[in-house]
Amino acid sequence: MPKVQTARGGKAPFEFSATAEKLFGEALDDFTDIKIVGEVEDVGRCYVVRGQIECKKIFICDRCLTQATENQVHEFAEEFDKADAIDDLLDVTELLRDELLAGQPMKNLCKTDCKGLCPKCGANLNEGECGCERFIVDPRLAALEDLKLD
Ligand SMILES: [Zn+2]
Ligand SMILES: [Zn+2]
Repeated sequence: MPKVQTARGGKAPFEFSATAEKLFGEALDDFTDIKIVGEVEDVGRCYVVRGQIECKKIFICDRCLTQATENQVHEFAEEFDKADAIDDLLDVTELLRDELLAGQPMKNLCKTDCKGLCPKCGANLNEGECGCERFIVDPRLAALEDLKLD
């Protein structure tokens, strides 16, 4: 559980390098090499915690189903009530976990233009054309084709 030391009237830097399990008390299988650097600043009425999370995400591409890795950086900045600091320590576990998870894309793609798998033969189309006929015929165009035949 990451707790950061506050400095009354000033700034205090912090840094963590740990596994998701150590940081969040649960294994987030997708993430490794998590490094967090930041600082806490006493701005008078509250503490501001800001910094960035660097991590490596290992995942299966939603389109082509191959394993891919991505280096991610997530910036964060959040205000904490001064009453949240216990013995001058702020628990930032929830903040970091939420930032990491909220920063994830809806789709996990190995690259933005991943071509995916051929729906006919299952070949990975990023590795080349498999030769299958995959054009989906628009039913309206098909109707026109039928007309031409008459
Ligand atoms: Zn892919
Ligand atoms: Zn194919």
